[in-house]
This record gives sequence, C-alpha cells and structure tokens, in this order.
Amino acid sequence: DLHLREKTAIITGSARGIGAAIAKALAEEGVNVVITDINSEAAAEYAKDLVEQGHNAISVGSDISDPESVDLLQKATLEAFGGVDILVNNAGIVRDRGIIKMSVEDWDAVLSTNLKGSWLCSKAVLPSMAQRGWGRIVNISSRAHWGNPGQTNYSSAKAGVIGLTRSLAMEQGRRNITVNAVAPGFILTDGIKSLDHIEHIKAGALEKNTVPRLGEPEDIANIVTFLVSDRAGYINGELVHVSGGRYSG
Ligand code: NAD
Repeated sequence: DLHLREKTAIITGSARGIGAAIAKALAEEGVNVVITDINSEAAAEYAKDLVEQGHNAISVGSDISDPESVDLLQKATLEAFGGVDILVNNAGIVRDRGIIKMSVEDWDAVLSTNLKGSWLCSKAVLPSMAQRGWGRIVNISSRAHWGNPGQTNYSSAKAGVIGLTRSLAMEQGRRNITVNAVAPGFILTDGIKSLDHIEHIKAGALEKNTVPRLGEPEDIANIVTFLVSDRAGYINGELVHVSGGRYSG
C-alpha cells in the first residue's frame, strides 16, 4: 500500500495521453483526482469515466498559462476536496520549427504553457501543501532537455522545468514538500498514434532505445505514482529519465 488514500491530486493536461494515465494510476491508489485541461469537455468526459469506475474525480477546465485560470483551478480543488497534496505538472504543447521559421508566438506559446504554467500551478498549490505539512510536486520534462533540432522553444522550456524543479525542491524540502521531475523519452499516446508518419517515427525511436520496445503512458504513470508516495520521501530535486535507455541524440 502506498498510503495515498484520501490524498488529493491535481494533474494538468489530464484529459488524454500521459496525464490521463497518471490520473488513472493515482485514482486506483485511492487519490481524489482533479482532471484539468484546456479541453474542458474532454476533461469532464474523462472525470465522468473515472467516477463510473468507482473513483473520486472532478474536472475543472483550465488554461495553465493564465494566472486567473490557475487561481480558479486551485479554488475549485479546495472547494471539492478541502486541500491539495499532490501536483503533477504534465500539460505541455509543441510548436516545432527551425528557428528562422519559428515565430515569437511559437516561442511564447510553448514557454507559457510548458514552463510558466508549471511555475504558476506550483505557486498556487504550495500554501495548501505547507498548511498540511506534506506535499509532492512532479514536473514532466522531456529527454528533449538535451536539445532537439526544430525544438528550440520546447527544449528550452523542458530544460527550464528542471531548473524550476531543483530550485523549488531547495525552497520547499524543509516543509516536507518534495519536487522532482520526470523526463519521458518517446511515449506512444493516442495523439501520437494518429500521426500520418507514425510507423516511421516508431521505427526511429525503436532503433535508438536500448530497451527493445516503445514507451507507454503507464511507464510514466508508474514512476509518478512512486514519486508522490511516502516511499519516495528521501528523493528531492531529482530528474528521472524514463526513455527506454535512450539518452541524448
Ligand atoms: P497530449 O497532447 O496528448 O496531452 C497534453 C494535454 O495537455 C492535452 O489534453 C491538452 O489539451 C492539454 N493542454 C495543452 N495546453 C494546456 C493548457 N494551457 N492548459 C491546460 N491544459 C493544456 O500530450 P502527451 O504526449 O500526453 O504529453 C504530456 C506531457 O509529457 C507533456 O508535457 C509533454 O511535453 C511530455 N512528453 C511527452 C512525450 C511523448 O512522447 N508523448 C515525450 C516527452 C515528454
């Protein structure tokens, strides 16, 4: 037993993909889960599915790049469950292009969601965690923090998330609040499966992995579930790569 029963978790971008898998894994441990996504309809649908499966879930539409929206998310969580113990900063977007063709809007959109959004959500939930004397934040980075051509915006944001993780870990550790990051490699989500050139992408990823398979959303959900449990209480400010043994390049 991971002793997560009755805890409350906000998982951003959890209407689908990796976030949805994380929310499900936590719900299965008895966590009250807040499904939040910019796609509020999909979030509502997914929360309803989880409730039908016997879990405690609510949905809140949010745009994590907007401070007011994040404030409403925090308030809705407190209203529904009385506090927040766990935050998983998972929502993220890509706008891939070489730097010459990349617009300032492409830069701003990716930095605002992937980096500022994680900062805003952390800032919003920390008072409740401090009050409870216990908290867990897990930030979803990416192996792209090492750099990827066409992803100057995305890799900057995902490297930034690691700096955010370490600084917050140092600030909050004494309050029994740990902050760690997970860097997924290639993960086969429904979104990715529907891409036209998916077979080509899969073959490329398989060739570079040292483990002879592709990643599944559950691979990320498993490590997040461990990191938010008491078993990971002595781990703070770390970055865990879940990339099938594929490192830079
Ligand atoms: P996804 O696109 O399937 O899901 C992301 C969710 O975030 C979507 O439901 C989207 O609506 C939501 N979202 C986007 N902008 C938002 C905003 N401003 N406010 C609230 N919600 C917002 O993506 P995924 O593949 O499941 O990825 C999840 C995370 O994992 C992302 O941070 C991504 O960068 C990271 N990641 C994914 C992979 C991979 O291979 N899939 C690899 C490395 C890192």
